[in-house]
Amino acid sequence: MTAAALILLGWALLVVSPPGALAEAADGLRVVWRPARPAAGDVAWVSVQGAPAEASVEGSLGGRSLAFFAYGGGHAALSGLDLETKAGAQPWRLAILESGREPRTVRGTLHIRPRDFPVERLTLPPAMVDLDPETERRALGEAERLRTLFRMLTSERLWRGRFTRPVAGSEPGSGFGARRIINGQPRAPHGGTDYAAPLGAPVVAANSGRVVLVAEYFFPGRLVVLDHGFGLYTLYFHLDAVSVTEGDLVDRGQPIGTVGATGRATGPHLHFGVQVGTARVDPARLLGLSLAD
Ligand SMILES: [Zn+2]
Repeated sequence: MTAAALILLGWALLVVSPPGALAEAADGLRVVWRPARPAAGDVAWVSVQGAPAEASVEGSLGGRSLAFFAYGGGHAALSGLDLETKAGAQPWRLAILESGREPRTVRGTLHIRPRDFPVERLTLPPAMVDLDPETERRALGEAERLRTLFRMLTSERLWRGRFTRPVAGSEPGSGFGARRIINGQPRAPHGGTDYAAPLGAPVVAANSGRVVLVAEYFFPGRLVVLDHGFGLYTLYFHLDAVSVTEGDLVDRGQPIGTVGATGRATGPHLHFGVQVGTARVDPARLLGLSLAD
C-alpha cells in the first residue's frame, strides 16, 4: 500500500520504473499510481505533477474514464476497482491537453492483484430472502435507481482532506466483499462495511459533500447518499433517523442521522458503502488514503 509506482514520461518517452523508484523526464511530467499494485475493492489514486495548472488532463483505466481535478498543485483522479474486479493487467492512458501545444499522451499498465474475500453463511427469516414478485421488483428497481445515481458525475470536488469513519469507536468494521450464502443460496456480495454500533448512535458525514438521496429502500432501509464530487459517493444504510434532506451541503463529521436496524438488518449497525462511479470499493481503503488537500 505504501509503495508508489512512479511513471515518468517525456514527449514520446515512457519509462515505467519499479514501485517506489524515482526517475526524471525531460519535460518534468510525473505520473504516480497509488497503490502501485491495487487489488479488487481498492481506490486507485493517480496523480500527475508537472503539467501546467491551466492544462486539462483526461484519461482512462481499463476503458473506464478518469475524472481529473486540481489537487496538491497538480492534477489527480480516483478510480474504483469494483470488488468483483478480476486480477490481471489493466491498460491506462492519460492525455495532457494545453492550448497551443500538441496533446501529450501517456500510456501504461496497472497490475491488479488477486484478493480473496471471505465467504459468509447467514440464516435470515425467509421473508427477507425469498421475496414475493412485487417485493423483488421493488428491490431491483431500487438497486437500479442507485446505479443510475452513481453514474452521474458532479464536476466539482466537494471533499477536502482525509475521510473520517462515520460512527464513533475504533472497531475497524467488517464484511466488505464477503461472498454471501443466505439460507443456503449464493447472493450478491456484500458491498460495504458494517460497523457495530448501538441504536441511536450518531452517524456523521465521512467528508464534506451534498446529500443526493434520502430514501427508505427494501434492503438498505432508511438511507442517505452523499455526493463528494467526481463520481465519489458514500452510503449510509439501516438508519433509524435521518437529520438531513436532499440538496443539503454537509461538512465532514456533521451528524446526518442515527444508527438503526431498518431494512434487512439483524440488529442495529451502520452499513457504510463507498462508490466510485458504479464500482463498489472498500471503505477502509478510502479512509486509509492520506489526503492533505
Ligand atoms: Zn452491510
